[in-house]
Amino acid sequence: MADKKRPSSTAAVHGGEPRHFPCDALTAPIVQTATYSFENTAELVSYMEGRADRQEYGRYGNPTVDLLEERVAHLEGATSAVAFGSGMAAVTSTILALVKRDAHVVLFSDCYRRTRQFVTGFLSNFGVEHTLVPPADMTALEAALRPETKLVISEAPTNPYLTVPDFEKLAAICAPKRVRTLIDSTIATPINLRPLEYGIDLVVHSATKYLGGHNDVLAGVLTGKPGLVSLVRDVRHMTGAMCDPHAAYLVHRGIKTLSLRIAHQNSSAMAIAEFLEGHPKVEQVWYPGLVSHPCHDVAVRTMDGFGGMVTFCVRADLNGTGRFIDALEIPKIAPSMGGTESLVEQPALMSFFELSTAQREAVGIKNNLVRYSVGIESTEDLIADLRSALEAL
Ligand SMILES: *Cc1c(COP(=O)(O)O)cnc(C)c1O
Repeated sequence: MADKKRPSSTAAVHGGEPRHFPCDALTAPIVQTATYSFENTAELVSYMEGRADRQEYGRYGNPTVDLLEERVAHLEGATSAVAFGSGMAAVTSTILALVKRDAHVVLFSDCYRRTRQFVTGFLSNFGVEHTLVPPADMTALEAALRPETKLVISEAPTNPYLTVPDFEKLAAICAPKRVRTLIDSTIATPINLRPLEYGIDLVVHSATKYLGGHNDVLAGVLTGKPGLVSLVRDVRHMTGAMCDPHAAYLVHRGIKTLSLRIAHQNSSAMAIAEFLEGHPKVEQVWYPGLVSHPCHDVAVRTMDGFGGMVTFCVRADLNGTGRFIDALEIPKIAPSMGGTESLVEQPALMSFFELSTAQREAVGIKNNLVRYSVGIESTEDLIADLRSALEAL
C-alpha cells in the first residue's frame, strides 16, 4: 500500500500540462475545429517532411485531446496515450491493432461483457481464436497459451466480483513469450493501481466512468509503451473512433478532482462493505478491501485503495431484491459507475436480463446480486439509506 508512485492531487490537476495556455486562458482551451490550415505551401512541405510539429486533420489529432492523453499518460506512469470516443472504441481499436487472422487471444472469463463478445463473437468471424480462463487463474492462463497467442486481456478489478489478478505473475508468464498484456483498469483508476509498474504492456480506461467522474460524457483512453500505442493510434486514424474535443475537455476537467473523489469513494465503499458484511439480511459481500475477499492479499500488495464498487447478495429472491433496490432513496438505478452520483443495479435484470435463472447461475450471476457504485455523497447518508432499505426486506 501507499506506493510512492501514487499520483498526487497535484499530478491530477497539472500533470502533463504546459505552464501557459494560448489566449492566457487558465483552463485548457477547447479547440473546436475539424481541420487545421497551413500558412503556405512551404509550411505544408515542412510538415510532410516531418520537420514541423503541428496538427493536420481532426481525425488525426486535436490539441484538447492531446492534453487529455498527456494527463492520463502522466497518471499511469506511461510515456504515451491515445484517446477515443468511448471506452469500447479504445478496447476494440487496441485489440484490432494487435491481432490478425489465426491469432489467439486469452481472456479471463469475467472480463467486460462487450469486450468478451467482440473477441468471442465478432473477431471469430475473421479467424481470430480465443480461450476463456477462470478469473485470476494463472495456472489456467499459462496452460492456455499457444505459439499463436498474441494477447491476454483482463480487467482489474473485474466486474461484478472485483477479482484482482496477480499482475507480476501475469507479466512474468506473458512477456518472455512475447504475448502482449492488456489490462482494463477502469474500475481501479491510476490512483488505486498502475498496472504498467508490474510490467503490463497496455492499460485501457473507459473514461466515461471514474476519469470523467460526473456521469456526463463518454470517452476512452489507452496508455502504454509508445510503439504499441502508436499502432493503436493508426487504427483510430482509420476507424475514426476519435475523441471529440468537448468530451476531452470534460474528462480533462473531471480528472482534476480524481484523487479527491477516489479517496472519498475508497473510504466510503470500505465502510459500506463492512456495514453490509455485518448485516443479517446480507448473504455475501465482495469488496477487495475485505479480508473475506478471495483476492484480498493480491489487492493489498498491488493496490493503493480498493475502489468505489461494492457487490453483494441480499437475502431475497429476484423480486425481493428489486424491492430492496426500489427502497433505496439515494442511488439511482442505472448502468455505469464511477461518477459523483451513487448508482445501483441488479445485474440479473440489467446486463443479464435475457438469460434464464439457470443460465445466469451458470455465468455466476445470482438473482439476488446487487452492484453498488459508490458516489461522493456522505458515507453516513449512504449507510443510513442502505440500513432502512435492508430493514424493509
Ligand atoms: C463501461 C466499461 C467499458 C466500456 O466503456 P464505454 O465508455 O461505455 O464504451 C469497458 N470496460 C469497463 C470495465 C467498463 O466499466
